[in-house]
Amino acid sequence: MQGFCNHRPIGRQEKRTIVDIANPPLCGGCKTFMTNCTFAGINSALREHERFAVLGHVRPDGDALGSQLALALSLKQLGKDVRVWNEDGMLEKYSFLSRAELLTKPPSIPEDVDVAIALDTAIQNRLGTALEAIRSAKIWINIDHHPSNPGYGNLVYVDPTAPATGQILFELIKNQKLPLDGDIAENLYVAICTDTGSFQYRNTTARTFEIVAELVRVGVDVGSVSQQVYENFPLRRVELLRELLRTMRFEGKGHVASFRLSLKTAAELGVIPEDNEGLIDHLRAIRGVIVAVFFEELADGKVRVSMRSKSEKADVCAICQKFGGGGHTLAAGARIRGTLAEVEERVLKAICDVVDCNS
Ligand code: 5GP
Ligand code: MN
Repeated sequence: MQGFCNHRPIGRQEKRTIVDIANPPLCGGCKTFMTNCTFAGINSALREHERFAVLGHVRPDGDALGSQLALALSLKQLGKDVRVWNEDGMLEKYSFLSRAELLTKPPSIPEDVDVAIALDTAIQNRLGTALEAIRSAKIWINIDHHPSNPGYGNLVYVDPTAPATGQILFELIKNQKLPLDGDIAENLYVAICTDTGSFQYRNTTARTFEIVAELVRVGVDVGSVSQQVYENFPLRRVELLRELLRTMRFEGKGHVASFRLSLKTAAELGVIPEDNEGLIDHLRAIRGVIVAVFFEELADGKVRVSMRSKSEKADVCAICQKFGGGGHTLAAGARIRGTLAEVEERVLKAICDVVDCNS
């Protein structure tokens, strides 16, 4: 499992600071500790410093963006100097989030901060240009819920049992009495709601509902947020779905379903990357399908592969790791060099090797 379990700190830090090990979960890959600190350790780092950068992964989703804004707003309420950077900036569809304007693309000239925080980011290079924008940081904090996170950074809190990074942030905020207001609550709600597939996925627990109950009490308007997230898509997204369904194919006795998007079709439809989010769920929703795959041709000669699984036995994170990607057992992805046809063949074969395609 070498390669993704290198447990190396990021940035210019060479020393890994072990703060307080409290029942840390094990890394699924190398079976060593991923978490090396408590909420108290993170809280001290937050309160004792001034200049912060709150970062999230490229091609962000609701959990990354909501988590970034929530933590940034809490820090701002403490009077801190906070940058909120994402390589892609704020997505059109999440621009309704409270204080969305705070989240920007990173500057081209790197900056020095006291504390850089990576949220929801399984592997450090998925911070993209946001990582390059940090010239130096005294402390790197890594808060995440991806089991494939190798535990980079000085203060690491990775809880693979949490359905969303937003849920870990809620626990941190409550546990350490950090500021929580209506704007922060809305961002946390969107983070949790989107990463649990509207509270449908297996890792949605009683605790998740307790947390969102509290967020609603703080002031989240559930109906309004749901309309913004699920009933406000541009027409081109539905036109994209129509084209994707035309390319739909099945392997392994209907256990594996996939569709593909070429650069040509994307250009003809005028779609933007964020239009893709959630479309793969149409494949997963088909009876008999165990693994759903979305192949998207990228301009850099790679193909973005997105996978979903309905069974713990078909661990799509493990499959994606074979191709240099990662994620969760039931939702994972990778970027693989090659043409659409080449990548499709290799990946579908790898899935059929794992999924029982004979029953
Ligand atoms: P999605 O299919 O929605 O893009 O991603 C599903 C999950 O897989 C997310 O948790 C995401 O972080 C992870 N993921 C997607 N693409 C990659 C990738 O290229 N590398 C890694 N390490 N994880 C990925
Ligand atoms: Mn997440």
